[in-house]
Amino acid sequence: MRHMPVWVFALFIFSLPITAQVSGPSKEVLPFVRVSTAKVVLTHVRVIDGTGSAALEDQNVVLENGKIRVIERGADVAPPDTTVLSLRGYAVMPGIVGMHDHLFYIARPNLNSQGKFEQPVLVTQMTFSAPRLYLAGGVTTMRTTGSVETYADLNLKRDIDAGKLPGPHIDVTGPYLEGSESYFVQMPHLTSAEDARKTVEYWADRGVTSFKAYMNITRDELKAAIDAAHKRGIKVTGHLCSVTYKEAAELGIDDLEHGFFVNTQLDPGKKPDVCSESQGDYTLEHMPPESAEAKDLIDTLVKHHVAITSTLPVFENEMGGGRPPIRQQAMDAMTPQAREVFFFLRERAAARASHRKDPGLFFRRDMELERAFVAAGGLLLAGPDPTGAGDVIPGFGDQREIELLVEAGFSPVEAIKIATLNGAVYLGRDSEIGSIAAGKNADLVVLKGDPSKQISDIENVEIVFKDGVGYDSQKLLESVKGRYGEY
Ligand SMILES: [Zn+2]
Repeated sequence: MRHMPVWVFALFIFSLPITAQVSGPSKEVLPFVRVSTAKVVLTHVRVIDGTGSAALEDQNVVLENGKIRVIERGADVAPPDTTVLSLRGYAVMPGIVGMHDHLFYIARPNLNSQGKFEQPVLVTQMTFSAPRLYLAGGVTTMRTTGSVETYADLNLKRDIDAGKLPGPHIDVTGPYLEGSESYFVQMPHLTSAEDARKTVEYWADRGVTSFKAYMNITRDELKAAIDAAHKRGIKVTGHLCSVTYKEAAELGIDDLEHGFFVNTQLDPGKKPDVCSESQGDYTLEHMPPESAEAKDLIDTLVKHHVAITSTLPVFENEMGGGRPPIRQQAMDAMTPQAREVFFFLRERAAARASHRKDPGLFFRRDMELERAFVAAGGLLLAGPDPTGAGDVIPGFGDQREIELLVEAGFSPVEAIKIATLNGAVYLGRDSEIGSIAAGKNADLVVLKGDPSKQISDIENVEIVFKDGVGYDSQKLLESVKGRYGEY
């Protein structure tokens, strides 16, 4: 049995009966709601505000009608009609803005006994488990960064926003904008610039709020997609290969996925509009941050306001050596088959997906470039990319990404900023979300310990507030036990 934190009892003492709300959570959501009064005070809590500033000790954070009303010096208070949570020993940080948070899973059913993908690779939609895992892990806003069941994602977003289902706020990305070949069988294949424009307009009309270009798109198609999206105020990101980072920046792309792992500009034999054999490995290996090429690239990205999304967790297992660390709760969330795949790939180095001869070198090089990009004024975003070998799990992966940013050399509060405020800035929503400030939405993560000193405390999530409603992280996790990998 899990320990019940001390402040739960404080809640019983101080909270009055929950008053009925006009459009409160449905019966699907209610079992996960721990706090739903209009007024909430978090007392004596450590505040990590998401701006990169040092943590503030012993604060009271007052929430009212879904917003943060004030942050003030810690004090014992007992206002009427208010839930008071006594949070000595706890920290509060902004809800994570997960910028590469898919709603599908890839390692099952596609892996054969050699650990290779069977063709055609089909990814499985995780509409039930993923949103719960994201919210449980502290994610209050997420971008799907490529959809396979776009209508399901749009309907899921609608139902979450209506309080019918638990989950974060969702920026639904349209179907992948892919060229003539694709990695998995559910991607559309663009045939021309005109087709790219029509595809973007069609899905924008149906409510998607972002797009992602993929590995075999041509420059003409990408340009047409970007222009059509920008006309509607929608941003475009890319996991590219056929188009280099520099080319994409000059075409007006808004964001590039996977750090500096998939830039192909120095790859041998790179032909325009065609993905290279090396898929960016050669370029990463030959572009240390102090090189002229790296400086020129970073300069171009910053000048064109192109963000970079760091997705370190999806590359971590390639290094082996017990990475990533095993978390029991993540294991518990997975189906038996998903767990089997996880251990199979982990234990058998030869079966691991990496084609890189020294994965550790690539990992460190990417980290160095991400640091250099931020140092030059670039906007770095964070997301785990829960695909890979089945060891990157929604929510848990978002936390792992923050830990790996610290390993990359960012301070804990900087890493938290990258995963919260920076995402909000990119989405143009930083006046509402992304940091803990009076007037902003009450999207907050309550966790035990002090992640500003020990980043692994980011895993100790207790309550996740979204629009002022407090969700019980453990209960969300319990509801998906053994389900991730199934649906
Ligand atoms: Zn991805």
